[in-house]
Amino acid sequence: MSILVLADHDQGKLSPATQRVLGAVATLGDAADVLVAGENIGVVAEAAAKLPGVQKVSVADNAAYASQSAEALAGLLSGLVDGYEYIVASAGAVGRDVMPRLAAKLDVMPVTDVIAIHGADRFDRPVYAGNAIETVVNTQAKKLLTIRASAFAPIKGDGQAPIEPVSLADIKSVVEFIAELRTENDTPDLGTAQIVVGGGQSFASAENFKMVEKLAAVLGAAVGATRAAVDAGYAPNDWQVGQTGKIIAPDLYIAIGISGALQHLAGIQGAKKIIAINLDPEAPLVKLADLALIGDLFEVVPALTAALEQRLKA
Ligand SMILES: Cc1cc2nc3c(=O)[nH]c(=O)nc-3n(C[C@H](O)[C@H](O)[C@H](O)COP(=O)(O)OP(=O)(O)OC[C@H]3O[C@@H](n4cnc5c(N)ncnc54)[C@H](O)[C@@H]3O)c2cc1C
Repeated sequence: MSILVLADHDQGKLSPATQRVLGAVATLGDAADVLVAGENIGVVAEAAAKLPGVQKVSVADNAAYASQSAEALAGLLSGLVDGYEYIVASAGAVGRDVMPRLAAKLDVMPVTDVIAIHGADRFDRPVYAGNAIETVVNTQAKKLLTIRASAFAPIKGDGQAPIEPVSLADIKSVVEFIAELRTENDTPDLGTAQIVVGGGQSFASAENFKMVEKLAAVLGAAVGATRAAVDAGYAPNDWQVGQTGKIIAPDLYIAIGISGALQHLAGIQGAKKIIAINLDPEAPLVKLADLALIGDLFEVVPALTAALEQRLKA
């Protein structure tokens, strides 16, 4: 079984999602080759080479891959897939974009958003906004998978794989990268954080939403938001949790002023414990939570933040 994993990286750092993808494919038996594509990505390649379960790291270092465009990466991958049975990426922004394009080029069916691997050709994936789990049997010679990283434990340990450059002849790019707009913040990565504090539109303003950020900072948590909060401009787009946002699987999710619409629940099914803070005891998220605090967030959140701050300082 030969496996090629497309590495996820951002701003010169290998993303923890890659470690989880390697954790997922480890169940297939063989060590994987990892492709690191981008510009000036030597450090990323070295980090990938140190992971266990990696046989070889191939590096495609070129300006054409700097923006991680699906067009460029799918073109690159299609030239490298000979001899591989599995081509795997995380179901993050890049993998989600690249894999369908690569699948079309190779004329195979991709299996997206895999949350469990049962042997060589059976994969579970959520459907109907996570309300049902479908088991897909894929017997194609080439299996293209995107992995929901939060569903798998990261591979642990040390490795020392060789790093080899990929020969990059004939790079043709049909897209031009113009600019990237980034929200700068130093909160932990939402997709892999152990604690997430999420807020809804009930905060009523971006200023009030800072309460969520303050509580998260005290707990060393990532900040999440509902789509309603994002649409209202209280939180940036990349904080959205849910069906059309990020999928999270923290040990603890604190959901404040969030009703628990199906589309939000689709993003938090992997959360191990949920605490809901809400005025409404009948809210779906209150019913689903392990612990619910019925009260006004404008009183509860500042009090909770101050109490935790004191306790964590002591
Ligand atoms: C195609 C599609 C995709 C979608 N994708 C997503 C997605 O990815 N993520 C997502 O989150 N949503 C998504 N939505 C939107 C989703 O349906 C809901 O509209 C949204 O999740 C509701 O957000 P909310 O909980 O902030 O607001 P509301 O549903 O308005 O809930 C507010 C909650 O706050 C409580 N509350 C109000 N005031 C206070 C107070 N002072 N103190 C304490 N509690 C208070 C209320 O009791 C209520 O439970 C999607 C919708 C569609 C149609």
